[in-house]
Amino acid sequence: MQLAQAFMGEGKQSPQPPLILAVEDNEDNLLLMSYVLDSLGCKLIGQKDSSETLLVAKEYQPDLILLDILLPGESGMDLVRQLKCEPLTSNITAIAVTALASFEDRERILAAGFDDYISKPYMIDELEGMIRGYLWHKMGSCRVFDLCQE
Ligand code: MN
Repeated sequence: MQLAQAFMGEGKQSPQPPLILAVEDNEDNLLLMSYVLDSLGCKLIGQKDSSETLLVAKEYQPDLILLDILLPGESGMDLVRQLKCEPLTSNITAIAVTALASFEDRERILAAGFDDYISKPYMIDELEGMIRGYLWHKMGSCRVFDLCQE
């Protein structure tokens, strides 16, 4: 009986909004990203440099990480290697958001450990589509309804 109640209690918990960690040194880009993520019902941790990204990723366990490549200090490439080597963060989807868009760049980006990339400048729809693609299972059913309306 107690066990059954515990299960029912768990079932009633409202789903947590997806948490996204974004590292982007350009303030305008970070602001744009925050609008897009907010409109999708995601929570955002934004960072302008990579000095604390690994720590924050370990601590907060975001559902997805968006990483600029060219950053002051450690680059997105260095960072993704560290994230993918660390057991606590290796399973988190990491997406490069970068102006480095040549075929060679893309190969290097994926070889470094990124799961995917989106090239700057991007259309808002592209960023939305990518986030929905990776986090559809974390987004509420109302989001699916929104998709049907589009
Ligand atoms: Mn940058």
